Amino acid sequence: MKAHDGMYIDGEWRPAAGTDTIAVVNPADEQVIAHVPAGTADDVDAAVRAARGALPAWAATPPAERAARIAALRDVLVARKEEIAETVTAELGSPLKFSQAVHVGAPIAVAGSYAELAASYAFEEKVGNSTVHLEPVGVVGAITPWNYPLHQIVAKVAPALAAGCTVVLKPAEDTPLTAQLFAEAVHEAGLPAGVFNLVTGLGPVAGQALAGHEGVDLVSFTGSTAVGRQIGATAGAAVKRVALELGGKSANVILPSADLGKAVNVGVANVMSNSGQTCSAWTRMLVHDSQYDEAVALAVEAAAKYGERMGPVVNAKQQQRVRSYIEKGVAEGARLVAGGPEAPRAQGYFVSPTVFADVTPEMTIAQEEIFGPVLSILRYEDEADALRIANGTVYGLAGAVWAGEVTEAVAFARQLDTGQVDINGGRFNPLAPFGGYKQSGVGRELGSHGLSEYLQTKSLQF
Ligand code: NAD
Repeated sequence: MKAHDGMYIDGEWRPAAGTDTIAVVNPADEQVIAHVPAGTADDVDAAVRAARGALPAWAATPPAERAARIAALRDVLVARKEEIAETVTAELGSPLKFSQAVHVGAPIAVAGSYAELAASYAFEEKVGNSTVHLEPVGVVGAITPWNYPLHQIVAKVAPALAAGCTVVLKPAEDTPLTAQLFAEAVHEAGLPAGVFNLVTGLGPVAGQALAGHEGVDLVSFTGSTAVGRQIGATAGAAVKRVALELGGKSANVILPSADLGKAVNVGVANVMSNSGQTCSAWTRMLVHDSQYDEAVALAVEAAAKYGERMGPVVNAKQQQRVRSYIEKGVAEGARLVAGGPEAPRAQGYFVSPTVFADVTPEMTIAQEEIFGPVLSILRYEDEADALRIANGTVYGLAGAVWAGEVTEAVAFARQLDTGQVDINGGRFNPLAPFGGYKQSGVGRELGSHGLSEYLQTKSLQF
């Protein structure tokens, strides 16, 4: 596949400082499809300098003009959506239809929302005898994962640009080609040189250099809790703003009054979507004792539909990780009712859609994020029990509640320690704040809440 052999810095593709490269592998057939440069601290330094140089002019650009540039960026993404979808499919392995609808569709919606928000947001407000100015934080270091390659980038870069910040992006090593296409789109949209910069590279090298760079004012990170903790500590030591979007172990709570068939079907689809590689996936299904056996049977039936439809997981390491969690589930006494640890195909990093019944809250598969197509079905006795189980992990990113009446579901949802809850299968809203309670993270993405992460506050008294 087409790939740049340099970094996008200060409005141009420049040779990398070093000579190391990263092989990009198609996880569906294990073939190397391209190589990209492995950035070093020198590349990061050059990118941060460019971002700092571009900051004063971009921060002073009227919001309406910044909005126009973001709208132009959205238009380029729309014009090039087929090429982007094919690239996501090649490096992530997701089925092309899913790439078109979700991997490209969602970030286009998010970019569009920030084109509108940049124009309408109140960057100045009156409070008594004061005027409060909301000003850009400065240079943003964005570090993104591979699971939704374009969405994760747009969810950081679009609000940062809307706020008047400049950005250095270090995308995941598994999906750098989508990031390069995004840099091309930024260029085509006519954003001033240095406002957006891209450094591809390894997390512990380029990522760490970016998170620790003294020219970066805010680090926005999405990925594993282990790395998030490290980045939070680095940022804390430097008294630097940080936003962390980490893992989840979300509960799908099906109350007895719910439409059980619909709740189970949507619940299984939610877990299997993107081969289970979604931080907000409802990986724990909580079902009342009286409906438990019926729910398990429905889930097995629903999971069977995903065998052929699902793409692989992103790489061999992830495949092995998911496999060892499935083995652990069996070893700890959960009942395997669909799928299992054996790879369903000889080639490609595929995992069978897997469902466990008789999962108890303390089991590893009910506590830790697996990041694969694995559903755990847990039994509860009454609502208090369901709530205790739902809130009984270190995570609090998302979740779902199903009930006959919306008011009943909402009453339950209000007691969940989690940042987002879908009521009776609520639809994706690109304007709704997304982010975690507890160890699922710090800060929010999307909508006006996502924009305010990139602003700092100055008050003038009169
Ligand atoms: P990761 O945390 O290692 O990688 C995420 C990003 O951080 C990548 O760009 C990576 O290069 C970078 N990175 C890695 N080490 C770094 C360091 N020391 N300093 C700075 N940046 C660094 O995640 P992963 O290995 O890609 O996935 C592992 C697990 O993370 C998954 O199994 C899953 O549980 C979780 N995950 C969560 C999300 C999410 O959206 N919350 C997304 C992807 C992965």
